[in-house]
Amino acid sequence: MIKLTALFLVLSICAEAQTIIDKDPEIASMVKEVNPDSLKSYITTMVSFGTRSTISSVTDSKRGIGAARNWALSKFQEFAAASGGRLTCVLDTTTYQPDGQRVAGPINLGNVVATLKGTDPNDHRIFLISGHLDSRKTSIMDQTGDAPGANDDGSGSAAVLECARIMSRHTFPATIIFVTVSGEEQGLLGSAFMAKKAKAQNWDIEAVLNNDIIGSNNSSETNIINNTQVRVFSEALPIPDLDKQAKMIRALGLENDSKSRQLARYLKETGGRYVDNLDVVMIYRPDRFLRGGDHLSYQENGFTAVRITEMNENFTRQHQDVRKENGIQYGDLPEFIDFEYLRKNTALNLSTLANLAKSPGVPQSPKVLTADLTNLTNLTWSAPLEGKPKGYYVLIRETTSPVWQKKIFTSETTMTLPMSKDNYFFGVQSVSETGNESLPVIPLPGRR
Ligand SMILES: [Zn+2]
Repeated sequence: MIKLTALFLVLSICAEAQTIIDKDPEIASMVKEVNPDSLKSYITTMVSFGTRSTISSVTDSKRGIGAARNWALSKFQEFAAASGGRLTCVLDTTTYQPDGQRVAGPINLGNVVATLKGTDPNDHRIFLISGHLDSRKTSIMDQTGDAPGANDDGSGSAAVLECARIMSRHTFPATIIFVTVSGEEQGLLGSAFMAKKAKAQNWDIEAVLNNDIIGSNNSSETNIINNTQVRVFSEALPIPDLDKQAKMIRALGLENDSKSRQLARYLKETGGRYVDNLDVVMIYRPDRFLRGGDHLSYQENGFTAVRITEMNENFTRQHQDVRKENGIQYGDLPEFIDFEYLRKNTALNLSTLANLAKSPGVPQSPKVLTADLTNLTNLTWSAPLEGKPKGYYVLIRETTSPVWQKKIFTSETTMTLPMSKDNYFFGVQSVSETGNESLPVIPLPGRR
C-alpha cells in the first residue's frame, strides 16, 4: 500500500505533466547508428530495378520484383552473417491465383522475411516491422514500365533493412521480425499471406509497425514543408468480436484505448524519448480516406497494428508515371526523399521495437476494483508471463487526454490512488531493470 498523503502531492494532474524516463543507453546508441547514407543506398538500389511491380518479372536478374526480392534477401543474409547466427532470413513465396481485378494470371508472390530470434526460450512474443517492396505505375496492370517507388514504399522498406542491420548485432529476449512484403499495391496480398499464416500458426505477435511512405517532407499543393512530425494511424475498434468489443468500450468509455491506440501512444512516448525533433501525431483512424495498407491485414486477423506515414503526402509523386507536365516533375523519384527525415522515422521504429523487445511481458489480469463505492482507486494485477520485471508503471490520464499524463513506479502488484476511478483512465505496464516498458494494459472492472 502506498502512503496516500505523499501521493496527493504527486498527483496534482496537469495537462502538460510528463514523467521523464531515462534513456536506455543501449537503445540510445542503436538510434545513433541509423544512417541517412545507408538509407539512401538502399533506396537507390531499389529504384535501379526499374519497376518492382508485383506482376513484373520474377526471373529477370536485373529488372523487376524478382531482382528486388533477391537483393533484399541478400541484404538480410549479409546482416545475418554478422549476427552470430541469430538472424535468419527467407524468401517466403506462394502462388497467388488471379482475382480478376489487379492480377491477371497466377503469380509467384514473395515476402522477404528476416527473423531475429529472441534469447529467452520462454518468451514467444513477436514484434514485427513491415514495409512493402512493390511499386506501381499509374496503371496497376502495367508490368514493365518504370515505377521507381522511392518513397512508396522504398522508404518503408529501407527503414526495415536499416533496423535489421543495426538490431541484428544486439540481443533481445523477444523475437523481432523484419519483413518487406510484395503485393501491397495489388491489394495487400503479401501482408494478407503473412498475417493469415501467423494466425493459423498462432504466432504471438504483440505489435506490428507498418511503414508506408515515410520519407518525403512536403506537399506541393499546400507548400508545407515539415520534417518534424510523422503520423501514426490506429484503429479504435478491433475487427474480431466487433459487437462484443463495442459494447464493452461503450460501457467503460474506452473509445481510445484499443491495443492499436495504446501502441500509437507508446510510439509517441518512446519516439519522444529517443528521437530529437520528431513529434508523433496520432491519427485516430485506421488509415487515410480512399487508402489502405498492410497493417489492415494484421488487424483483420486480430493482431495489433498501426500505420506510420509522413505528415504531408505529395500526390504528384505517388502512383504517378514518371513524366514532366507543365514544368512539374511527376513520379516517385529518389531526389524527393528527405533522408534526414527518413533517418528520424527509422529511429522512431528502431527505438520502439527495441524498447518493446527488451521489455517484460504485459501485466496479467489487471483490474480496477469496484466492490465498494469509494473515491479512491484500487488497482491489482499479476506478474507477466515473460521476463522478470523490476516493477510496474501505473499510467493515469484524464478521460479527455490523448496521452498518459502520469506514470508512477511500484514494485508491488497493487496500487491505491487517492483519486476516483470514475474520473480517470488507468493503464499498467511491466518495466525491466533497464527501464524498458511493456505495452500498457487497461484494468477492467473486477470485484476483487
Ligand atoms: Zn504504399
